[in-house]
Amino acid sequence: MAALREAPSAPVRHDWTRAEIEALFDLPFTELLHRAASVHRIHFDPAEVQVSTLLSVKTGGCPEDCAYCPQAQRYHTGVEATKLMSTDEVLEKARAARAAGASRFCMGAAWRSPKDRDIPKVAAMIREVKALGLETCATLGMLRADQAATLREAGLDYYNHNLDTAPEFYGEIIHTREYQDRLDTLEHVRDAGMKTCCGGIVGMGETRAQRAGLLQALANLPAHPDSVPINRLVKVAGTPLAETAELDPFEFVRMIAVARIMMPRSMVRLSAGRETMSDELQALCFAAGANSIFYGEKLLTTANPEAEADLALFRRLGLRPMQVVEEARTVHADIVAPAAGTCAA
Ligand code: SF4
Repeated sequence: MAALREAPSAPVRHDWTRAEIEALFDLPFTELLHRAASVHRIHFDPAEVQVSTLLSVKTGGCPEDCAYCPQAQRYHTGVEATKLMSTDEVLEKARAARAAGASRFCMGAAWRSPKDRDIPKVAAMIREVKALGLETCATLGMLRADQAATLREAGLDYYNHNLDTAPEFYGEIIHTREYQDRLDTLEHVRDAGMKTCCGGIVGMGETRAQRAGLLQALANLPAHPDSVPINRLVKVAGTPLAETAELDPFEFVRMIAVARIMMPRSMVRLSAGRETMSDELQALCFAAGANSIFYGEKLLTTANPEAEADLALFRRLGLRPMQVVEEARTVHADIVAPAAGTCAA
């Protein structure tokens, strides 16, 4: 396997054209899987899957209007807004996460962007979590350059901020911030010296060409995101997308495969929507190059049946949780941010 990973191919490119990407999507399914699986083996051990978990430190009540999101205040989804957790509460969770084997802890808040008065509170959390010996990650909405610098100074290693969808479909989904706002935040995060986690959501009614457009936007960023979460829409009653037509599962697998080919060194993460996927569909996604999953929030509690079911699936497929990721991306179980189909998924 080591020899395979040294093979000189699958270059990291930032100049993908839409026609090239659509041509990949149009390949016969088995050929696409073969190509993606070949690329996967160059940079990763295909038997290893990174395991991640979400923790929300501030849920609901968000002023944004992301059409898929149950945390948006304007939709009546039954999600109750909470206040920002105290540093002590966060630390208790972080210690539990560390005891459960986590090496990274991410704090997520359902904000449009943090207010200046929030930054010292979050910075304190980051500092304390870092002092426990954990890597730190956060998803807090849009960041200005000075906010990103302050968080980095406090010890923040990773920042999640998704592009969500293709630029040309974006206006159908979100009206309260521009695509450029997202690109600006990612730039501020990179400039501050942090790693990025950035992906999107499929199954929102977009076309295949628009799915290609999302991947083009991601791969043509100045640096490929370290992690690329690919979410399948979770249709939540009360949100505008509650009645959206189901995406063909094979199309979801194609999305994973094309993402793997285009961003060969990134962790391609199965995120929101995995709980409604069959074991067989998840297995196809792993075969197509997905190498990271979300557990949900339950890793921090004693009972964790979802995690046990995942481990059982790993055993059936001969997969194992990734212990250490190359290039300092050391992860056993990431503890990452908020619930259902959101900023951090
Ligand atoms: S996805 Fe994030 S920004 Fe959008 S409504 Fe949900 S919590 Fe707010």
